[in-house]
Amino acid sequence: MLKRQTEGSVVCPNCGRLVGVRDERCFICGRWNPGLWGWGPSLARLGGDLGFANIVIGGCVGLFLIALLRDPSGIQMRGLLGLLAPAGSENLLLGASGAGPIFDFGRWWTVLSAAWLHGGLLHILFNMMWIRQMVPAVASLFGVGRMIMIYTIASVVGFGLTSFVYLLHLPGPLAGAGLTLGASAPLFGLFGALYLYGQRTGNHSISRQMTQFLLIMLVFGVVVPGVDNWAHLGGFAGGYLTAKILDPLKPEQQHHLLLGLACLGAMVLSIVVSVLHGMSLGWPETIAHFFR
Ligand SMILES: [Zn+2]
Repeated sequence: MLKRQTEGSVVCPNCGRLVGVRDERCFICGRWNPGLWGWGPSLARLGGDLGFANIVIGGCVGLFLIALLRDPSGIQMRGLLGLLAPAGSENLLLGASGAGPIFDFGRWWTVLSAAWLHGGLLHILFNMMWIRQMVPAVASLFGVGRMIMIYTIASVVGFGLTSFVYLLHLPGPLAGAGLTLGASAPLFGLFGALYLYGQRTGNHSISRQMTQFLLIMLVFGVVVPGVDNWAHLGGFAGGYLTAKILDPLKPEQQHHLLLGLACLGAMVLSIVVSVLHGMSLGWPETIAHFFR
């Protein structure tokens, strides 16, 4: 049951130490608003990120299984990265993004839904391992509402950028994506937010580490075909700019949590709209045509 506590101590959802319910910041780990406006004790069992990492992991794994099970004959085994890849038409129906879905089919909302879909077993495994690490880390520094806002806007900027760059017809690894998906665009937004946090607080080792991640992943993306470098770069930039506007040195406000929940709602809605819109177009015939 949800019960609000207005006095006394609560357990910090991030570090587990006792703090005052009205404290602006946990004096041990620095987490903003550890009492969550008094809702902390009721929400504590969800964890420091209010369960967002579990929601992302559960949603991504669930959609991955749906894509596999809806068309088992379409499952592909293309090398290591394409191991157990769901049929492309299934991921398109569920909301894969890129220049094709956005400009050919008008599915602009896929800049949100694509972050919940994956193109293979290792793809989803790596992304979910990173989500489990990064989501609670960024939530502890920015608060859970602002973390979800950063995550969502990074997804929009990452998938939007790669789709627009596709129109430029750049060669080789410089090309944008006609078709793209995966949680790494918003994940890079979390890297970008930590980079900004390091800059803003003078903790330059964090920023250096994030720069290293970005560079290693870009080199990886140039060497390994099929990696969407522009979605990664755009995600990083989107997360950085959002974090800059939200300013980690200012405390998280109650309306940030509401905006974060609205972002989560918009992401869920984008998947529902993708499926309804796809079915209204006559899937998979339309999409089979698109692939030809
Ligand atoms: Zn704490």
